[in-house]
Order: sequence, then structure tokens, then C-alpha cells
Amino acid sequence: MALTKIAIIGSGLSGTLTAINLLRQQHTPVSIDLYEQEPAQLNRGAAYRENNVHQPLNVPISRMSLFSQEPNHFYQWLHENENRLKACIYGAEMEDYVPRKIFGDYLTDIFQKTVAACSGNHELEVIVAKVLSITPSNEGYILASTSKITTYHQVILASGNVPPQRAIFLPPNSRNLELPIIHSWEGLPKIDSSKQVLIVGSGLSMVDTIIELDKQGYHGTIRVLSRHGLIPLPEIPEPHNHLTLGPKESTYELLKAFRELAKEAEAQGSGWRTIFHNIRPEIPTLWQTLSDDEKQCFMRHLQPFWEIHRHRVPAFSHQLVQNLIETGSLQLLKGRITNIINGNDEKTIVNYRPRHTQASVTFETDLIINCTGPVTDLTRSGDPMLEQLLQSGYATTGTLQMGLNTNVNGELINSNGNTQRGLFAIGSLRKGNLWETTALREIRQQAEALPMAMLPVGIGV
Ligand SMILES: Cc1cc2nc3c(=O)[nH]c(=O)nc-3n(C[C@H](O)[C@H](O)[C@H](O)COP(=O)(O)OP(=O)(O)OC[C@H]3O[C@@H](n4cnc5c(N)ncnc54)[C@H](O)[C@@H]3O)c2cc1C
Repeated sequence: MALTKIAIIGSGLSGTLTAINLLRQQHTPVSIDLYEQEPAQLNRGAAYRENNVHQPLNVPISRMSLFSQEPNHFYQWLHENENRLKACIYGAEMEDYVPRKIFGDYLTDIFQKTVAACSGNHELEVIVAKVLSITPSNEGYILASTSKITTYHQVILASGNVPPQRAIFLPPNSRNLELPIIHSWEGLPKIDSSKQVLIVGSGLSMVDTIIELDKQGYHGTIRVLSRHGLIPLPEIPEPHNHLTLGPKESTYELLKAFRELAKEAEAQGSGWRTIFHNIRPEIPTLWQTLSDDEKQCFMRHLQPFWEIHRHRVPAFSHQLVQNLIETGSLQLLKGRITNIINGNDEKTIVNYRPRHTQASVTFETDLIINCTGPVTDLTRSGDPMLEQLLQSGYATTGTLQMGLNTNVNGELINSNGNTQRGLFAIGSLRKGNLWETTALREIRQQAEALPMAMLPVGIGV
């Protein structure tokens, strides 16, 4: 049987796990080209790079298996590789956390073993190149990258989060200045403790940055500034309950129902955290039930609270931040930057308006670390491939420009409102439709479903 030619764009968790699942299926021989623009992210993506040796996963070992039907798979892999990994395992029981690099090692190892085991049935090539455009043709899609132009029967977009923009928090009059801004996603240089640091953004990337500064032995002054000044809450194992939310028509009703469930959970002796675990499969339906206005209302008023409750951090990471706050080494500021200018002696002068005031507060800093998180508005991604897909109408953005419109199988919806057959998306690109689609649990489920959606028995061309 002729091979079905498939391109996967991006070799982070989404792309690599999709490749693994396509290679594991037996009924249709496939020839996969797996594209990755960033060599350090091959089979790792942004989150699980080799240099992430200090930052722990945000989820314990028990919930990080690559396969939904084998919940102990990661745990077993850790133990099989214990001798090799010992130096950087914090602990290896089911509720422990390991560094994110280790999860990248796991993904890489399982990928390589899968490729080796399927040789003869399927083909796979890794191509280090940036995909620039995707155009429909009679045979499928013509894909142009920095390395070659090739035609594929099917294409999967697994390009992940759009990295934070440099200037997103800068007022317009500061945007052309030479400022000492570091991007947390690119890793931190060694920072001397005599330097004052401003971290913009107080979410998961801020916690990662604090961990990195701590490992460096940095003990200078840190300011963390964000609109709400909310930091991710700690993960605490809680007894299970079976409470779930049903669809609600408004953000207010959702909030009310959630609060009632939380009270009920407390009364039962479990806690609110378990409710998030229970409702995750329901979230796409809950999200799709909301009108566009209600979604906007959620984004405006509830999203910051959702983020810190849903995307939690290990208790020891949370404690590290709390200790710095309590000792005064870290000041948590709520507000909006109104002006930034260069000062004397290589200092930067920052003005901000504290939340709910008209005041203007000024301070000096030596360095600014951008921890504002990924860009969610895909119309502002600056990515040539996404821009080409949107401009040509082969892809459309969902509500709030957040993610691409897809059907239930993950196939794109084009500007005519039709399914763009054979062009799929996975992971955070589906955020507009599904809301909850960026973590392993959802990515794993999508990667497991894709082979059936793409290769119904007998499709081989
Ligand atoms: C710091 C951090 C910590 C996290 N911790 C956890 C955790 O503990 N547990 C959990 O479940 N989730 C965690 N997550 C969520 C995480 O987003 C997912 O688990 C997962 O890593 C997303 O993988 P991805 O492949 O979709 O995206 P990415 O990891 O972003 O990978 C996409 C890849 O596509 C490549 N690419 C993009 N465009 C192109 C192009 N045009 N051509 C070629 N290549 C391209 C990029 O270079 C990148 O390597 C974390 C996320 C971050 C950022």
C-alpha cells in the first residue's frame, strides 16, 4: 500500500506525541516529516528543554503519563531509568515532581524507541526548518519551509504557544527605547545580586524565574508587577469527590455554581482543587455554551482568577515565592506601567499606576524580565505561517482571536465556513474553541484521537 504523507509542524509535546500515535497505529502505513524550527526544542518544545533542570513540572508524576490508557507509564519509565536520572530527580513517588528537563528526556526516549520499533512499516524524518506557508493542492497541501518545498496528503499544525511579545507591556512612547529587557522563555543570564530586578507578569513564568534566580544564589531586590498581583496557588493533594458543573449560560452563573460546588466539596472533606480535575472534560462544552459577550466577560473579569486556581504550582515553589514576600526581598505590585525611560547610571525609571488609584509611583530598576506569558491573539502572532494561513482564508480565528476555528476532529474551518479537509491543529491553537487545551491531559487526548480522524481504515493513497 502506498504511504500516506503527513507533515507535522512543531516537535514539542503536541507534535511529537501525535507522531508517536501515528507510528503506533498498524492499519495505514504513513510517511511523516516532523518539522522543528528550534533545534534545542526537538522532541521537547518550549516547556521541556534540556536547560529546564531546576524548574519542576507543575503536575505530579502520577498525571504526566504520555498514554491515557497507561497511567503509570511515566512513573515506570522514571524507575527504569533511575540510575541515569538520579542526580536531578527530586523524588520519584507518584505525587512527586521532577524537573521539566526529565519529562523532555522521557518524551524524546519514547519517541526514539517508537521510531526504531516501527521501521519497515512507517517512515519518519525529522526536519530542522521553519515552515513558512501551507497551500492546498490537488494532492493535499504544498508546504514551503526554510529547507524545502514538498507536497503532503495531510498536515498537522502543532506549533504551540506564540512566545510573549517584547513590547507588550511597554507604553507606546517607550517602545523604541533600548531597554534592559530579558525574556524569561529564552533563559536567564547570571544576574548579580547588586542589580534590582523588575518582573512583569505574576503567573507561572514568574514562578519559574524566581526558582532560577534562587538557584543562581541571587539575593537582591525583586519587584513583581502585574495588573491584579495574583500569583499561582499551590497544588495540594486532596481526597477525590465526584462533583461536576453542568452547562451554564452566563459567566456569573458559572461562578456561582462553582462557588457552591467548592462549599460542598469542603463540607465533604475534600477541596476545590478536585473540582477542576473533575470538570476538565466538560470545559469545551461549558465554554462553547457561552455567548461571545459572556466569553469576553469571562476574559475581562474572571480569567486572572481562573489562571491561579487552575494552573497551580508545586507547594514548594509557592512557598519559595511566599518566603521572599515575607522577608521583603520580593515586592508584589498591582497596577499598570504608564511610562518607562532610561535614567542615569544605566538605570531604568519605571512609572506605574497602582490598581484602583489615579496615583503615579516611580522606582528605578536595573533589569526587566518579561514574564507576560504567550500571545493569545493569533492575528498579532508575527508568525509567517499563521499570518499566511489567516490572510489566505485557509484558517480563521475563533472568538476573541484566540486560537483557530476547528471542527470536532481538530480540522481547520476556513473563511467560507467549510472544513479545510486534511489540515489539522492540536494543542493551544485550539484554545478559542476548547479553552482548556494547553496541558498534557488534553494534548494527549487529542494526539490519541488524531490517527482515527486522519486515517480511517483504507485511506492510504
Ligand atoms: C514553562 C511551561 C511549563 C509547563 N509545565 C507544564 C506541566 O508541568 N504540565 C503540563 O501538563 N503542561 C505544562 N505546560 C503546558 C505546555 O504548554 C504543554 O504541556 C506542552 O508543552 C505544549 O506543547 P506544544 O507542542 O503544544 O507546544 P510547544 O512546546 O510550544 O512546541 C511547539 C513547537 O513548534 C515549533 N514551531 C512553531 N512554529 C513552527 C514553524 N513554523 N516551523 C517549525 N516549527 C515550528 C516551536 O519551535 C516549538 O518547539 C507548561 C508550559 C510552559 C510554557
